[in-house]
Amino acid sequence: MTRKIPLSFTGKKVIVFDLDGTIVRLAADWHSLFKALTSRFTEKYREAINYHSMSAILSKIVEKGDEEELQLNFNLIRQYELENITRNESIKETIFFLNNKELFGVSHSANLAVFSLNTRSTILKSLKMAGILDKFEFFVGREDVRKWKPEPDGLLKILDYFKVNAEDIIYFGDSEIDLLAGSNAGVESYYIDTLINHVRNMKKS
Ligand SMILES: [Mg+2]
Repeated sequence: MTRKIPLSFTGKKVIVFDLDGTIVRLAADWHSLFKALTSRFTEKYREAINYHSMSAILSKIVEKGDEEELQLNFNLIRQYELENITRNESIKETIFFLNNKELFGVSHSANLAVFSLNTRSTILKSLKMAGILDKFEFFVGREDVRKWKPEPDGLLKILDYFKVNAEDIIYFGDSEIDLLAGSNAGVESYYIDTLINHVRNMKKS
């Protein structure tokens, strides 16, 4: 469901996007990756786990203070994400917005950033393939935080980098955890569908 309220970018200094499902659709085999991470954990720690997300597994490794294992998990995630990266699909309305943001009332001086659960290589490669890498100034990926969405840490990192306040930024994502992360950081957040509809209406008129 999308909200029928007009989006306003007035006063926004930074526009932040999730990656997968928001700018592009990744073609990674998430199911096999999740299984690989689960068996790695079980073999390494000899403990059964029953988590429903990669972030939950990684959080458990962080809790154990095992930075080396965490890095190996990041490597595995990166490998799965990059494996099928040539099969990425761009989300054309988001790409249109990014290429024409002044048409939507975005200030010339506004910056763009990515806050994603994907690895940094995947973010950079995906944006490069979509021809929009140079539009972005800052990236927070899987490796850059130790508390993942819906925790607000990545957005707080973005606020800190740009030296701006929560009300100066706006965040778009495709999942409930994106909106929760936004609300946990006190940042105005929308489902990407809201922006997609906004772009379609703009193109119609
Ligand atoms: Mg997403």
